[in-house]
Formats: sequence, C-alpha cells, structure tokens
Amino acid sequence: MTTIAQRLKQIRSQISAAELAYNRRPGAVLLLAVSKTKPAEDIAAAYQAGQRHFGENYLQEALKKQQELGAYDITWHFIGPIQSNKTKPLAMHFDWVHSVDSLKIAERLNAQRPSGLPPLNICLQVNISDEQSKSGITLAELPQLCEQVSQLPNLKLRGVMAIPAPQQDFELQREPYKALYRAVAELHRPDLDTFSFGMTGDLKAAIAEGSTIVRIGTALFGERDYS
Ligand SMILES: *Cc1c(COP(=O)(O)O)cnc(C)c1O
Repeated sequence: MTTIAQRLKQIRSQISAAELAYNRRPGAVLLLAVSKTKPAEDIAAAYQAGQRHFGENYLQEALKKQQELGAYDITWHFIGPIQSNKTKPLAMHFDWVHSVDSLKIAERLNAQRPSGLPPLNICLQVNISDEQSKSGITLAELPQLCEQVSQLPNLKLRGVMAIPAPQQDFELQREPYKALYRAVAELHRPDLDTFSFGMTGDLKAAIAEGSTIVRIGTALFGERDYS
C-alpha cells in the first residue's frame, strides 16, 4: 500500500519536474494539501512528512480538525464556497481564503479579522470556463474588485484562484489558466503574486501557465467518498 508520505514525495517530484520543464523557478510552486473529507490523522501523516499548508472546503469540518491538530504549526487555507453568514470563523481561524467572489464577502472578512492577527491573505475566485458553476467573478469584473479589495486594511490581496471545467486534453487544460494569467498581468500589479491554479487532474498544465499554488487532494489522500 502506498502511504501518504510516499505520495507526497511523488507529488513533490512531479511539481519539481514541471517547474523545470516550463522554465519556472525551482520552488516557485507551493503544494497545498487539500484534506476535505479526510480525517485529522491523514493531515498528521502528511505533516510528519513535512507538509505545512492544508486546504479545507467545509467550515465546520475544518474547525473540528483545527481543534484536533491545535499543536501543529499548520497554515490553513479555505478554498470552498463562502456563505456570508459564516465569514467570522473564516476571518478568525484561517491564514488564506482562496474563494472570495464578492465585495460583500471581502468587506465582512475585513471587518471580522481579529486585530491581533496579520492581514488575511485573499485570492479572488474567477470563473473562467465553468458555466455550470455559480462561484467566481467574471474576467470583466476582476479589475474593479481587485481595486476595491486592495483598499481593505485587514486583508492582503494576493491574486486569483480558478477551478476550470474538467478537461482531459493537456492543451485545453492550459487555455483558461493562460487567459486568467494574462488578465492579471494586464493589471500591472506586482503585489499580485499568487495564482492558485491546478488540482490532481491538471497540475502540470497549471504549472505551465504560471501556477504558484497547486491544490492537491486525490493524488495525496486518495479518492473521496463525497464531493
Ligand atoms: C477538492 C478541491 C481540490 C482538490 O481536488 P483533487 O482533484 O482531489 O486534487 C482543489 N481545489 C478545490 C477548490 C477543491 O474543492
């Protein structure tokens, strides 16, 4: 049986190989371990193997695991859909939120970020190819929302996150990332240093198109029973 530590090693070497193949700086891509639906023991196993950044989608589940893992020095990322009445625990208990898609949510996170903590790192979720999904802003909305979120003192706007419609073909996988990367480049904002691009099925294409954070669940923790 393959262990989480062995899979972690394999994924790290895939990331390094893709950085090399696509002229990315070695170490440019951060591995975010997506632990949704998986028990705290799996997170602990990855942690023991050196993993520090973990991503969760469901607030209640995440808060429970954070309590169980209180002694671990983990950087927590929230990557799931955000309900506006649940922003307070997000602002209190996470280091990053990747799935901000409205000014209202951003303003609530800003108001609810505890003053003793550093600014909350934010990515704006952009819906670039998945017409089925209601999450994410359009490319046309990106410049203005970037401008507005940048004004909020308790948030640190870092960049964008995308979940494209699934594609098997490598070249087709690259297209939405290429378009979004270009749109961000056109904003001429060197402070936007984060492209949260890529999952188990399209990690290489995402790295080819500028990803700085790949969000990997299945390849690390195995298939999920739900979602
Ligand atoms: C579940 C999830 C992932 C991980 O997907 P895998 O295909 O299992 O690697 C990444 N990003 C988001 C937003 C997710 O919800």
